[in-house]
Amino acid sequence: ESRRTPGAVRDAERWTAHNYHPLPVVVAEADGAWVTDVDGRRYLDCLAGYSALNFGHRHPTLIAAAHAQLDRLTLTSRAFIHDQFADFCRELAELCGKDLVLPMNTGAEAVETAIKVARKWGYRVKGVPAEQATIVVAEGNFHGRTTTIVSFSTDPEARDDFGPYTPGFRTVPYGDLAALEAAIDDTTVAVLLEPIQGEQGVVVPPAGYLPGVRELCTRRNVLFVADEIQSGLGRTGETFACDHEGVRPDMYVLGKALGGGIVPVSAVAADSDVLGVLRPGEHGSTFGGNPLACAVGTQVVRLLRTGEFQRRSAALGAHLQAALRDLVGQGLVAVRGRGLWAGVDIDPALMTGRQACERLAERGVLAKDTHGSTIRLAPPLVIEKHELDFAVAQLAAVLR
Ligand code: PLP
Repeated sequence: ESRRTPGAVRDAERWTAHNYHPLPVVVAEADGAWVTDVDGRRYLDCLAGYSALNFGHRHPTLIAAAHAQLDRLTLTSRAFIHDQFADFCRELAELCGKDLVLPMNTGAEAVETAIKVARKWGYRVKGVPAEQATIVVAEGNFHGRTTTIVSFSTDPEARDDFGPYTPGFRTVPYGDLAALEAAIDDTTVAVLLEPIQGEQGVVVPPAGYLPGVRELCTRRNVLFVADEIQSGLGRTGETFACDHEGVRPDMYVLGKALGGGIVPVSAVAADSDVLGVLRPGEHGSTFGGNPLACAVGTQVVRLLRTGEFQRRSAALGAHLQAALRDLVGQGLVAVRGRGLWAGVDIDPALMTGRQACERLAERGVLAKDTHGSTIRLAPPLVIEKHELDFAVAQLAAVLR
């Protein structure tokens, strides 16, 4: 029955490094929450590019902005200013409630930017002795794949054989305020955390943890850096996952959905006493803040300003979480999440997460496993309720 898929899977294996283990689905087209493969089969996308597709595939407003910009101007480098730049930076800064924005491309680059800014702030503002700065991070973190970032990963797959590692990081258990307090000393410049740990399996910290981190950082003169690359921009039912607990970090790190699923766009946002430490020549990126990225990113911010996607995620997310909880004891051992973002642990005696995702794909639902028996569901926020019900019904059938 299948025609083009097997050959395309074989060719991909033959000609690329095996740094991923993709499901054997070869996508050719997509629209909204649905993708179509090279043989014309349709799948409901319940991964949404790890949350890069919060607004769905090819959202008409974003596609129109990209087309219009392609016909005018695509790249200047930051050697010059272009006419899309200031609007994007201002509107994103306002969305974040911060003075300044620094645009980059990928998530990992934005995390690296946050680390550099925090260290420089530590030396120039806080007065940490040269080369002594420390940053506290959490066990189970995922912040990207660069050599510095994997240096403080606790996942052997991400870290092993990539040393020597960058020093200056201390690791504490996620969700443990006492451990965090004990790890902070006069050399500490930042606490870098995901407000919900995505790759770890959508791990939500205990209530009160994020406000506790905020209080601790304020009291000890340490920057609270929130990596909202996966959790932010509507995914959890608020603009930022920190909003659920009324917490405002000193620095937001954003990516994924900021590029509307069209171009890689990332950024850090902070007040001028923090981001203002950078001087010309100290940091940058050829493509960071390019005209195409800014044109799309500005429309992303405007979509978020309507609140529509946050509301959809909150309302449909409550429905999804309840439907998934009904499967606990029916093949699931645990369900976590917030909004349209769920991590479900499959009974390991039944099957692996990988096997569950393969069977889901056969039934027309795309999801991705993470860490053994966990799968993550993060559909585009444009998904409809009956489509969510379809996805949950397929999961229930796979577990039976
Ligand atoms: N930070 C978090 C919380 C992420 O989930 C990710 C990607 O999954 C990253 C950083 C890295 O982003 P990128 O893959 O764009 O470098």
